[in-house]
Amino acid sequence: MRDLVDKLLKNRILTKEEFIQLISGRTPELSQYLFENARRVREKIYGKDIYIRGLIELTNYCKNDCYYCGIRKSNSNVSRYRLSKEQVLACCRQGYDLGFRTFVLQGGEDPYYHEKRMVDILRTIKQSYPDCAITLSLGENSYQTYAAYREAGADRYLLRHETANPMHYAQLHPDSLTAENRKRCLFDLKRLGFQVGSGFMVGSPYQRAEHLAEDLLFLAELNPHMVGIGPFISHHETPFAKEKNGTLELTLFMLAILRLMFPSLLIPSTTALGTIDPFGREQGILSGANVVMPNLSPLDVREKYMIYDNKIATGLEASEYLDMLKEQMRKIGYEVVVARGDYKQE
Ligand code: SAH
Repeated sequence: MRDLVDKLLKNRILTKEEFIQLISGRTPELSQYLFENARRVREKIYGKDIYIRGLIELTNYCKNDCYYCGIRKSNSNVSRYRLSKEQVLACCRQGYDLGFRTFVLQGGEDPYYHEKRMVDILRTIKQSYPDCAITLSLGENSYQTYAAYREAGADRYLLRHETANPMHYAQLHPDSLTAENRKRCLFDLKRLGFQVGSGFMVGSPYQRAEHLAEDLLFLAELNPHMVGIGPFISHHETPFAKEKNGTLELTLFMLAILRLMFPSLLIPSTTALGTIDPFGREQGILSGANVVMPNLSPLDVREKYMIYDNKIATGLEASEYLDMLKEQMRKIGYEVVVARGDYKQE
């Protein structure tokens, strides 16, 4: 199996069959070998730097009904909220003072934040913080709306493809959502000059090694700047309440494969990783990740943005969390830096 890792290191791609073989045949020894290589590749480009992104959870209203997501439309037990422009700006101010140079506005697909309202928010943030990058993660939209966001100052967009296989996609989403449209959005975003992030959940219901191989091949086609992956974690008020969670082990393995496929990729060690294991975040970094996205949302809304059960750090002030994170990273030999943290060409 080491020969497959060596081949991936050299060619940055494998065939679907080889990816399946690598994923299904993994062992703890092979994982260690993969992680060592992933760290080496990452350090050649990004050194020991950890980029931070300030996450602002804009709204938990959503018009969609994804079967896995805790803030899906049908969950009537969610107490819904929306942040005002002033609240968003207050989050940015706090984040800027703490050293954040990227703000990520993430939320459900909420028609309240229509194009005009978003453009106004984006322009104001950009005027106040011209040295910062703005990232959006607000789901699917038209080319025109994405173009308006870009024009108003958005630099990056995160939209996980979730699963590249259309049949698997249909097992995770209602009929109104399709893999095809999700992919169309990603290519539109690239065309508009966004730095684009995609990604998928690991261990989502019905997922097999074959699906993961297809995810990797789709990403090779998209060639994104960022890829976020995290374990699926069940939420007790969704149709997937009884489904098993994804594992730390497989998520780390997939993360390291991504690093070998795309040496310059910005890869977050996600909150979901930190949620399924107390050292998940650190292990993500040691498997090739180079980004962390601390939460800047107001404390009183954190509990309400519960996309899965037991999401961590809901009670910590951004400053407290950041101090903890810096210490955790220092302990494993990495350093949180003050920087926009743009994609570096090799
Ligand atoms: N509405 C936006 C943001 C979604 S939240 C959008 O459509 O892109 C960001 C990501 O959280 C999702 O893309 C999904 O991959 C992940 N997510 C949602 N529910 C999850 C769960 N139960 N377990 C793990 N990850 C989940």
